[in-house]
Amino acid sequence: MNVKNLMAELERKHPGESEYLQAVQEVLESIEEVYNQHPEFEKAKIVERIVEPDRIFTFRVTWVDDKGEVQTNLGYRVQFNSAIGPYKGGLRFHKAVNPSMLKFLGFEQTFKNALTTLPMGGAKGGSDFDPVGKSDAEIMRFCQAFMTELWNNIGVDTDVPAGDVGVGGREIGFLNGMYQKLARKYHTGVLTGKGMTWGGSVLRPEATGFGALYFVQHMLDKAGKSIKGATVAISGFGNVAWGAATKATELGAKVIAISGPDGVIYNPNGMTDEKIAYMLELRASNRNIVAPFAERFPDATFTPGKKAWSVKCDIALPCAFQNELNGDDAKELIANGTWCCAEVSNMGCTPEAIHAFQSAGILFAPGKAVNAGGVATSGLEMTQNCMHISWSGKEVDEKLHYIMQSIHEACVKYGTQEDGTVNYVKGANIAGFMKVATAMLEQGII
Ligand code: GLU
Repeated sequence: MNVKNLMAELERKHPGESEYLQAVQEVLESIEEVYNQHPEFEKAKIVERIVEPDRIFTFRVTWVDDKGEVQTNLGYRVQFNSAIGPYKGGLRFHKAVNPSMLKFLGFEQTFKNALTTLPMGGAKGGSDFDPVGKSDAEIMRFCQAFMTELWNNIGVDTDVPAGDVGVGGREIGFLNGMYQKLARKYHTGVLTGKGMTWGGSVLRPEATGFGALYFVQHMLDKAGKSIKGATVAISGFGNVAWGAATKATELGAKVIAISGPDGVIYNPNGMTDEKIAYMLELRASNRNIVAPFAERFPDATFTPGKKAWSVKCDIALPCAFQNELNGDDAKELIANGTWCCAEVSNMGCTPEAIHAFQSAGILFAPGKAVNAGGVATSGLEMTQNCMHISWSGKEVDEKLHYIMQSIHEACVKYGTQEDGTVNYVKGANIAGFMKVATAMLEQGII
């Protein structure tokens, strides 16, 4: 394969799909060398096949708001790759959702899911519905209308959606209720991220953040460093940021920043149980602002218009959105002495930022390895649903630990460089790719 030619061809076929093209380019650059050592991949045109989704469903979602006005949004499900198992991946409700965003997320999901050790293919979906400022009743009506179109294309052995940005336990509840009504199928394993009384797994809400911190611990161990006493800057204040802040604090780090679209909270004394619980309250309010945190906790200060990366910290954890940490942010962090950055959001860093971190010798790990604990625990939820049992928190946590350790080992296996350091981007991309590519090869040209 020749990355330049392949990218030129993809840009011609999918003009303007910048997030999708960015995600594909990163993976192709990482795997080029290994791929070219496998003529059987080239012969089966694996790379040309793996970069395109199997299919995309696009649909209109019409609903009525609280004022009685008719609203229309677009809905999507991108079923990206099913070589290693049924399609699996979240739904994102955000005003900027478009096919490029969901294709990038579905592509990343395919490799991430392969890394989890579990048999799950890759998918993503969502809508340009903006949850900000919506009432619970509006969210319910939107979710019901969305599921009216989606239900026939998902199922316990075909495609299992879950949450992502803008979709949490409340939305999964409304979606699952409508699915059962339409499909007249009552298996608990059609969606994951469910409530604890109707098939949800303990620890699923915490799993993305907890798994990320377990991964960071392995990464730091390998580099001879420790998280104890380290200062941590986190972007966002949603479910993922909450899980990361909880576990980082529990492990002895000090979480000194969280942020929102409105600005950054500087929190010099670190988190308390009360502060962590308040993050959830803030998110559930649907206002999408972080400023009230400083009104509630006077030892914290709010600066409008600034990102979490303006705060001097040892470890930076992007936990919000793609490309939320750019080249300039990376330079600012490096100048302030940051020595580790782990992407907890999907593609949280721009290519310029990753390059800046890597050339400065800063420990860096990509989202598809770091945040895989979320979907991995969704996989564990599916297993429990299929076995009609519930595991204890201890059992799920042990399995999550094991999975994050396996992902770290896979990164080390494929990403160790001549000087003994690990290129986690390369390691994660090659490990994920090798699994999916082998599965595709063994199942013929389809
Ligand atoms: N949206 C999450 C992710 O990006 C979780 C997906 C899932 O649990 O299926 O991996």
